Amino acid sequence: MSKMKFLMLVTVFTMLFGFNAYADGEINDIATVTKYANKEGANIYSAPADDAEVLDTTLLNTSFEVVYGGECDNWSQIVADDGFAFIKTEDLSDTETPKGHWVSLGKYKTTGYCNCRKCCGKWANGKTASGTVPAQGRTIACGSLPFGTEILIEGMGQYTVEDRGVTGKHIDVYYGSHGTAWNHGVKYREVFKWVAE
Ligand SMILES: [Zn+2]
Repeated sequence: MSKMKFLMLVTVFTMLFGFNAYADGEINDIATVTKYANKEGANIYSAPADDAEVLDTTLLNTSFEVVYGGECDNWSQIVADDGFAFIKTEDLSDTETPKGHWVSLGKYKTTGYCNCRKCCGKWANGKTASGTVPAQGRTIACGSLPFGTEILIEGMGQYTVEDRGVTGKHIDVYYGSHGTAWNHGVKYREVFKWVAE
């Protein structure tokens, strides 16, 4: 092999595998995972200790490069301007936190249904009125809220308005079987609507 060919090979290998970058030990070349502050005002510390110097505080969804494998004892090591800093792992999330808030709509009557003939008659085994395939844990029917409205039902969880069939302050919660729908019975629960900012 000529010297020229050898040098070209080395160059290609360096480009492909970044040997030079590792040799330099640059902070920018370490493996990191992007995470986001899940609250405003979380402290960023100079060392992983509550009494370490506070370098800065977060805004909601400030993004950080977390050092891969740099999580230990509830602390996460993050890349800072001139080295590393530390933030509590509980103050970080894998994705951005949606900005908005829950607004109470007051108490609703809630009941359960499935897509059997008893519950839906001629619409049995079909799609919802909004065209989605209904899913337990997501689909609810409500005549007084627009399709796609995100709803939180007190003590039950989060749902999406996808179906019709009831009117007024009444929510029909979709279940995968008639038995579980029947078990829901009639419950009066406070309902919240998600309002994005
Ligand atoms: Zn049914």
